[in-house]
Amino acid sequence: MKPDVVIARFGELTLKGRNRARFERRVLHQLKALLEHVPGIRFTPEFGRIYIELNGEPTESVAAALDKVFGLYSYSPAYTAELDFDAIRSKAAEIVAGLPRRPETFKVSVRRANRSFPYDSQQMNYLVGGYVLEHVPGLTVDVRKPDTELHIELRETRALLYTDIVEGAGGYPYGSNGKAVLLLSGGIDSPVAGWMAMRRGLELEAVHFHSFPYTSERAKQKVVDLARVLAQYSGDIKLHMVPFTELQTKVHQAYNDNLLVTILRRAMLRIAEKVAEREGAQALVTGESLGQVASQTLPGLNASRRAVQLPILQPLIMTDKRDIIRLAEDIGTFGISSLPYEDCCTLFVPPSPSTNPNMRVVEAIERNMPWLPDLIDKAVQETETLRITAGRKDEHAHLF
Ligand code: ATP
Ligand code: MG
Repeated sequence: MKPDVVIARFGELTLKGRNRARFERRVLHQLKALLEHVPGIRFTPEFGRIYIELNGEPTESVAAALDKVFGLYSYSPAYTAELDFDAIRSKAAEIVAGLPRRPETFKVSVRRANRSFPYDSQQMNYLVGGYVLEHVPGLTVDVRKPDTELHIELRETRALLYTDIVEGAGGYPYGSNGKAVLLLSGGIDSPVAGWMAMRRGLELEAVHFHSFPYTSERAKQKVVDLARVLAQYSGDIKLHMVPFTELQTKVHQAYNDNLLVTILRRAMLRIAEKVAEREGAQALVTGESLGQVASQTLPGLNASRRAVQLPILQPLIMTDKRDIIRLAEDIGTFGISSLPYEDCCTLFVPPSPSTNPNMRVVEAIERNMPWLPDLIDKAVQETETLRITAGRKDEHAHLF
């Protein structure tokens, strides 16, 4: 016996306020996009939930997608029965008898959403529970801590029966909290930071700085692959590839001491901010984590932050590396991030980057680079934008 429908539930927070309908539309839109390849299914949105009618399709194909849709808190593969007492109780017995691991104890929890059903929920708990006890040997009822809880919902047109409530992706629907620009390196941290930002409901566009030809085609491919993993959570994602070689080389020629990394990071943020403004995004997101490297001390973070006006969101700022790695493994970015290809930031790194940059000195050095603003604008103008789509590995990313 296969489930007939999956009940996908929104989080309670999502249900508050005037935005509810918009949130729910977004989630539905994204579910449809992720499940395009499962032709049989149909969607029926209802207050606080979406029914995914399986029409014979396997539950697994839907479950994989549900783990990637933010704003959904839980889901249940469910069986349906006619709104008829006999039909419901025999379906209940069939479900309990067919569980992969036979429970010792169980209980029935009926919710009567349909007030016209002749028995109320208490009566139904008792009657259906008794019937299951009679028909499935070796069971007892435990109302406090049962091995299995059989939920029965009596809806308008049918009854829904299920035993599993699976945790969903959580968070807010993608894009429901505005748009931000993610500074996406090839490293472990920034893809995780991007995932966390998306889970908070931010729509993301990614910016990557490359130093071609010093960095290879494969380093670029790695970032495209990371963006593709993120795109599984959004449908698709724009990836802005910023040519950073000229700026990096010129800065390095003019100044090669312990504030070089600070100067380059400030330039990166300024470029990202300009891209963000052009694209209508209201924040920058980075993978910075306090203390992790020289530029991520408090003075280092301050020196970076002061280069721009937009807020810099740092989802991982207080997160231990091992926890970040665990998340990266769960999300599916760790393997790609661990590939060895070099990043633009590993070029021209001075032997001892400052952990305590002095703002007055930083600003004085930048004043001695009057060409810097033009190079920043040029990098923005020469940025190439790719649209990365989930699950189309064989296809080349489409150039705008
Ligand atoms: P990550 O693992 O994300 O690369 P990291 O610990 O290596 O981070 P840094 O190299 O100092 O730290 O970079 C800090 C942040 O700056 C990154 O998390 C990312 O958001 C951004 N960043 C660094 N290099 C690049 C790049 N080449 N393109 C885009 N963003 C970058
Ligand atoms: Mg890095």
